[in-house]
Amino acid sequence: VSGKIINGTITAKTIRNKIKEEVEEFYKKNNKVPKLTVILVGNDPASLSYIKGKKNGCKKVGIDFELLQLPEETKESELINLIDKLNSDKNTNGILVQLPLPKDISEDKIIESIVPEKDVDGFHPVNIGRMIAGIDSFLPCTPYGIIKLLKENNINIEGKNAVVVGRSNIVGKPISFLLLKENATVTICHSKTKDLKEKCLQGDILVAAVGKPKMITDDMVKDGAVVIDVGINRVGEKLYGDVDYEKVKEVAGFITPVPGGVGPMTITMLLENTLKAAKLQNTGGF
Ligand code: NDP
Repeated sequence: VSGKIINGTITAKTIRNKIKEEVEEFYKKNNKVPKLTVILVGNDPASLSYIKGKKNGCKKVGIDFELLQLPEETKESELINLIDKLNSDKNTNGILVQLPLPKDISEDKIIESIVPEKDVDGFHPVNIGRMIAGIDSFLPCTPYGIIKLLKENNINIEGKNAVVVGRSNIVGKPISFLLLKENATVTICHSKTKDLKEKCLQGDILVAAVGKPKMITDDMVKDGAVVIDVGINRVGEKLYGDVDYEKVKEVAGFITPVPGGVGPMTITMLLENTLKAAKLQNTGGF
């Protein structure tokens, strides 16, 4: 079976066009434009490149974007003060603190200092709790993007065995809960999992979110499986996923490439969350 490529760039574009229309409608009704404010501490090149992608995404759909860049030596209390100001700033609908932060600043404390109504990354414990309870919330962008990618490409989730490799708070854990919500039977694997290959072979849907180039090989993939590759690994000038793409695509029924798979969906869901935040704040919150 030759793999069928799920084009995240095209799916993201379709969704962005809808978001653009909704942003225009929002403007017509409220005479204001949704706004995302991004805070970066320091000047890490990878972070700056991710921020550039977010800025371009905002521009394409007509969402206002502002970058507040603080020096590397910024204190935790100074960052919290800035977030406090943005929490009550009527013009800012979404607040995103670019991670990772310098080691002297607690990421948990910073995430918790953002009001849940403006937490467009969906990392605040209140949003995580609401997601697990199945209550309306901001969903973390990458897992949300994966679910949208599956749905928009008419891939059925219900009743399927889904195997997730990776259990981080930003990808592995939330995608597992979202797949469960869609009625998949979910297995979560991690670095201590025994017989990883056997577990992966059970997956009708296999999500790789590990951060190790090409670690998912063709002998680990069930014939006809849907393979979602979240990994972004820079090796020299090139980007690799966590999946050995060239070989796995011969076994898989569907597969996402890197780049051009999950990545474009992640930014698109950030735009959707920012629009949702603007609408919510206009009507008084969750
Ligand atoms: P983390 O490093 O936070 O988590 C990696 C997970 O993989 C951990 O749960 C770890 O297990 C598990 N793991 C590590 N080694 C193995 C192994 N040999 N076998 C099984 N499991 C293993 O990474 P993230 O979740 O933040 O990111 C994962 C990848 O996705 C990265 O490449 C990242 O760049 C990419 N990414 C892409 C995004 C996109 O938009 N496309 C967005 C976010 C991330 P344990 O918990 O036991 O340590």
